[in-house]
Amino acid sequence: MAAHANVTEMLHNAGLDASKPRKAILSYMLEHYGHHTADQIYGALAGQMPTLSRMTVYNVLRALAAGGLIRDVRIESDSMLYDAEIQDHGHFKCGGCGKLFNFLMPQEAFTCDMLEGFEITQRDLFFRGTCPDCQRKRR
Ligand SMILES: [Zn+2]
Ligand SMILES: [Zn+2]
Repeated sequence: MAAHANVTEMLHNAGLDASKPRKAILSYMLEHYGHHTADQIYGALAGQMPTLSRMTVYNVLRALAAGGLIRDVRIESDSMLYDAEIQDHGHFKCGGCGKLFNFLMPQEAFTCDMLEGFEITQRDLFFRGTCPDCQRKRR
């Protein structure tokens, strides 16, 4: 997979050493588009990497987010989620299955004159509703 071959370069470009756990976790994030908790990532990788600890996963995710390679997202009081989508994007939370969907918007949608003078560290638009799968089940 192309994304896989590039993780070393991506890490270097972000000023991070390409350690084995960093490469493994970034590859996993790129291959599984969407949102993951640290525990899910640990669970998915621990089998192939017996030396991996939960603490390492947390530290790597924090480093990747600080380097701009992934994003951290917290919606309401849910646990922290890590997201491979690094463009400004919106989130749709389904009240039926609880899934969090990414959606892309024109980048102009994320600017607002009313926030002049505010320091913005992350932009997000949050929509709530019912996903098509859950609507189908309801009928
Ligand atoms: Zn749903
Ligand atoms: Zn997202």
